[in-house]
Amino acid sequence: MQVPLLDLKAQYATIKDEILSAISEVLESQRCIGGPKVAQLEEKIAAVSECKYAVGASSGTDAIMNSLMSLEIGPGDEVITTPFTFFSTVGCIARVGAKIVLADIDPKTYNIDPVGVKAAVTKKTRAIMPVHLFGQMADMDPIMAVAAEHNLAVIEDAAQSVSSTYKGKKAGSIGTVGCFSFFPSKNLGGIGDGGMVVTNDQELYNRLFIMRNHGSEPKYYHKYIGGNFRLDPIQAAALLVKLPHLDEWSAKRRANAAYYDKKFAGTVVQTPYINPDCVTIYNQYVVRVPRRDEVVAHLKAADIGCEIYYPVPMHLQECFRYLGYKDGDFPAAEEAAAEVMAIPVYPELTDQMKDIVVETILSFLDKS
Ligand SMILES: *Cc1c(COP(=O)(O)O)cnc(C)c1O
Repeated sequence: MQVPLLDLKAQYATIKDEILSAISEVLESQRCIGGPKVAQLEEKIAAVSECKYAVGASSGTDAIMNSLMSLEIGPGDEVITTPFTFFSTVGCIARVGAKIVLADIDPKTYNIDPVGVKAAVTKKTRAIMPVHLFGQMADMDPIMAVAAEHNLAVIEDAAQSVSSTYKGKKAGSIGTVGCFSFFPSKNLGGIGDGGMVVTNDQELYNRLFIMRNHGSEPKYYHKYIGGNFRLDPIQAAALLVKLPHLDEWSAKRRANAAYYDKKFAGTVVQTPYINPDCVTIYNQYVVRVPRRDEVVAHLKAADIGCEIYYPVPMHLQECFRYLGYKDGDFPAAEEAAAEVMAIPVYPELTDQMKDIVVETILSFLDKS
């Protein structure tokens, strides 16, 4: 039996008619840029995130770009972030001309370690960008304390963690801004690219709003050098259909995770550690296993979806060689990159499918 890492067709089958009619509504209106669907989604994502304001974005990456540009972060500035993330987080810092400063992760949660953040602050530091990896929020209190002490902005990369919480507070609502992605494989995924920025700061909101449309206010009078960071209304329409299901889908992912936790208990498979201060949405269920690459090959041969998030930490990427980091600089991130693998946790998985995943991993490790 084949078990994919994610089965978007199974989800689509449950909401197909609603999606098609929502898209048709946009097409009939011919409001092909902006319009009511985008505004509605912004309002709803602000509410879900318990933030006052939200600005749609063309992708999670552009949500981060808009945030950095609106905070006027650029050449001469430093931004502290994690080496264990998707490229986008770090790529955006470089693209605005700021310096990437990395701090190692907590090996249990895979999120940036606040102790390393504190040590990385210099006179040039302007912002900290924690990433809420795999659906679990970073340890925000000590990060916010460092930010307050040095008057730094905090950009939450919450691309994988829409609606997850830390001490009861929603992802995106603790920092200066929060950035979400609606890439199809995220918990709230569109039918293409999309993203959103949330904030409680009205002045910053105004800037984000203008910046996403080439910095023009009014039209053709350019206050800032912005970009085209606009969310497509067809994406907004599809996301409005999916949003009411988000909590139920995340609960199913948590139930699948609990099932795996039980089955892997007492084996060599190290299951995810969830900080008791956090409610995770399990965008990924990531385990550590001995001889990881062989296990991955074995699963792939058995038609079971699995993926390594992420095989190469950012400080060892070819394009960031100029930063001067070397092998051994961030041992926790390097160890994680060598040992982790994500297995299927999507809401529509059956018990039988989960059993096959567990059995295929454990029988291989027992024999080896
Ligand atoms: C998905 C993701 C992004 C980027 O989102 P896109 O919508 O693909 O541009 C940024 N950061 C992290 C941690 C992500 O997982």
